[in-house]
Amino acid sequence: MKLKLLIVFILFFFITSCFFKNKYTPNVHTIIENDSNKLIAINYPETKIKKIDNKIEAYIKKVYKDFNNRENIKSLKFKDELNIDYDLFEFDNYVSIVINTYMNINKNSNTLIETYLFDLKNNKFLDINNIINTDKIVVENPNINLDKFFIDSKHIHIYDDKEYKFKIDKIEFKKNISINNNLNTTFIDNDIDSVKVSNIIDSNKKVIAITFDDGPSRYTKKIIDILKENDAVATFFVLGNKVESYQETLKKSIEYGNEIGNHSYNHKWLIKLNDTQIKEQIEKTQTIIYETLGYTSTLLRPTYGSVNKSVRKSSDLRIVLWNVDTMDWKYKSVDRIVKRATSNLKDGNIILMHDTYSRSAEALKKIIPIIKKEGFELVTISELLEINYLKNNA
Ligand code: ZN
Repeated sequence: MKLKLLIVFILFFFITSCFFKNKYTPNVHTIIENDSNKLIAINYPETKIKKIDNKIEAYIKKVYKDFNNRENIKSLKFKDELNIDYDLFEFDNYVSIVINTYMNINKNSNTLIETYLFDLKNNKFLDINNIINTDKIVVENPNINLDKFFIDSKHIHIYDDKEYKFKIDKIEFKKNISINNNLNTTFIDNDIDSVKVSNIIDSNKKVIAITFDDGPSRYTKKIIDILKENDAVATFFVLGNKVESYQETLKKSIEYGNEIGNHSYNHKWLIKLNDTQIKEQIEKTQTIIYETLGYTSTLLRPTYGSVNKSVRKSSDLRIVLWNVDTMDWKYKSVDRIVKRATSNLKDGNIILMHDTYSRSAEALKKIIPIIKKEGFELVTISELLEINYLKNNA
């Protein structure tokens, strides 16, 4: 996909020995749906800056609506897919955002790029003319859209979503924009100790594991607090692109004894990617979990629960699906979610929930006491697998 977002960059400063990192980590909104004819995974930032958030939300709403109103919906073996992801970079008083939209409808894939540059000081959007002298840009192909650009610590990326070749000869920044000064530089902290929870395993106990997919999100903190209050643990299958935004919550989660698993980088439907792309989705997530939390995940939950040969051989991670689906992404009623989670309690059950909804947190409050009352202990996936192994080999 990245090849399609052809990038042109101009180096204008030479700090290469430092890591750059946003000090500005926004909240992330997530919409994930899995219906009979479509798969949707949308992640977009909430900056708390009204003008930006309104614009992004309007764009997301429109794309979502257009996708749902698409024509000729067929029930194919490969469902139609909508995946939206973003990058955000802050420097001085500016925020640069790019929204990447990938669509696959009736096996035709399409990529859309939407970019925003916002001036925080003057509370307004800027276009490319505000930051560079566009008349000094030599564009070989007239179809290039100079309105679509993204600025990070090193480059200006000019996007072309139609894959035309183009070249920029020279860019000079306008003097009143000092994007090469005062960049927020932070070293990535590699000094975090991983917290190991070693229990003496009692293979006679009846256990159930609750798992949360698609987070972390703004609701994750509440969920780990509920788990702690009820003396329970769970396993969180996280999306790599959201780990940094909620790193404090995840660190706490690990400290409380919860387990973190890998749920891909941005929720692409893994079985539709090639081997290299699948590896990239998984490895990027492993890396960010390790670099941000000092934690090595050993579990993989493939997106939409779809597994094929390529997914199986893509990593050494243990693939973990589920056998109880609360459907909390679909059902708005807390009681309905509770009922789905607890109506058929059995030793070794793996329950699927999502830490991206407030209602899932509310349901969890009711689910834990019911499970415990029936004599089950709530454990992480790794504990459950170990206990199952001991039981099967007793
Ligand atoms: Zn998911």
